[in-house]
Amino acid sequence: MSIVLKNIRRTFGTFQALRGINLEIADHQLVALLGPSGSGKTTLLRIIGGLDFPDPGNGTVSIHSEDVTEKPAADRKAGFVFQHYALFNHLSVFENVAFGLEVRPRPTRPSKEAIRDRVLELLRLVQLDGLEQRLPSELSGGQRQRVALARALAIDPKVLLLDEPFGALDAKVRKDLRRWLRSFHQEIGVTTVFVTHDQQEALELADVVVVMNQGQIEQTGSPQEVYDRPATPFVYEFLGDVNKVRKPGRPDLFYVRPHEVRILFAGDSSAEFHAKIEHLFAAGPSARLSLRLTDSRDTLDADMTRAQLEEMGLSEGDEVGLQLALTSKT
Ligand code: ADP
Ligand code: MG
Repeated sequence: MSIVLKNIRRTFGTFQALRGINLEIADHQLVALLGPSGSGKTTLLRIIGGLDFPDPGNGTVSIHSEDVTEKPAADRKAGFVFQHYALFNHLSVFENVAFGLEVRPRPTRPSKEAIRDRVLELLRLVQLDGLEQRLPSELSGGQRQRVALARALAIDPKVLLLDEPFGALDAKVRKDLRRWLRSFHQEIGVTTVFVTHDQQEALELADVVVVMNQGQIEQTGSPQEVYDRPATPFVYEFLGDVNKVRKPGRPDLFYVRPHEVRILFAGDSSAEFHAKIEHLFAAGPSARLSLRLTDSRDTLDADMTRAQLEEMGLSEGDEVGLQLALTSKT
């Protein structure tokens, strides 16, 4: 295991930011800590990196089988990248990346040539070769975050810790960087923990998604596991769209995702529910239907392909039959 966290608690005043976190992260994995704002993601990342510590006697952190619970960041060899570029604005790209190596004490400091080789290699890796003399102010947001990544990697970290690294960038750049980080991680293989509140980002990027809520882990699993088999109502609702449906005569609430709603003709004898199409939105290859159930008057969203929609010849105001893959959650 690369990182092992045992029963970590962290209290600020009387507020419990982390309430007993247990997590094991295998070597070379890309792990997303996913949760709403305030769920404790940053606190946990800082504790992994040694920028913060569990309450005394309440939890341990091991990295590569070494108990580092009481070690400061400088002794953990963790590389950090934060949302807001923490680059030195008066230093060039080259100098920023070289920084972590230049400040080493003499006995462990690489030679000037070795530093130069390493920095140029890292800049190639993050696809910024040729830009080494630029100042941070002469780069785009996405380029700056890649410099921050190269700088974090310069010290050959045992683990890479990223806190919403693309959070401040616009949607398109974010998406590109996400893809890039995925293949970049495959290439360098360093164990990486990535904080995000964006479920799409977590599902697309990570090998393992850790869903956090109110200082606790709700579920840990592959993107497919947490999406298809959510362990708790919180995970169900946090990861993607979900409808909550009551069945007539039953107190339980059922959960169903829009793509799990099957639309049938109103007269179809296999229909379990009947509904009216209140609104229809078709753009691109898929269509989203807002439905109102005839029995309970509950509303429900359903997705179908554009082709299916056209084949059935449906439009707003039509009655349809439904089959729902229901999961009871209460
Ligand atoms: P996230 O990164 O998931 O948004 P954080 O880990 O930053 O959440 O914060 C979790 C909770 O702990 C929040 O309610 C936050 O206000 C609180 N918190 C974090 N750091 C401190 C601190 N230094 N002092 C007091 N409260 C803090
Ligand atoms: Mg945070």
